[in-house]
Amino acid sequence: MRVLPRTQFGNPALRKKAKRVPLKEIKSKKFQELVKQMFYTMRRADGVGLAAPQIDKSIQLVVVCIAPTKYRPNLKPPLKTAVINPKIVKHSKETVDDWEGCLSCMAIRGRVPRYTNVTVEYYDGLGEKQRATFKDFHARVFQHEIDHLSGVLYIDRVKDTTSIMTLQEFEKRILGTI
Ligand code: ZN
Repeated sequence: MRVLPRTQFGNPALRKKAKRVPLKEIKSKKFQELVKQMFYTMRRADGVGLAAPQIDKSIQLVVVCIAPTKYRPNLKPPLKTAVINPKIVKHSKETVDDWEGCLSCMAIRGRVPRYTNVTVEYYDGLGEKQRATFKDFHARVFQHEIDHLSGVLYIDRVKDTTSIMTLQEFEKRILGTI
């Protein structure tokens, strides 16, 4: 399978408002192939989420695969789904700050406040309508990825810009792995 080329911060594709996916397209061979390639591309890059604008497609499609990664070895529960035409319909009042990175800018990390709980309505990869509530890290991933569909990047949401650091500093100071 082919790794799709990814758009990087600064690319105008990441700032566009993505179009809704016509529901009748979801089951088409072409769309299903795209979903598969996005999952493959994301996992190869050790990511937990990838939005279509990150592969230069301005459509409301995200893939999420929450499983242990190099940086978060204890992630659970596992979740693997395509998320199509998503909408956050409810969220908690409280927010929590945590580290984020993005496959469109692997070199930096920053602390971002996100709602601790979100309820999301979306269509899955089979075209079935879903409504689910996610919390903590899962909620963060959905907020980060859904932001991509309106051209919003996590750096736009960093409140304390002094938290921004390079991956090398992050590994040294926060993870303690180097
Ligand atoms: Zn991202």
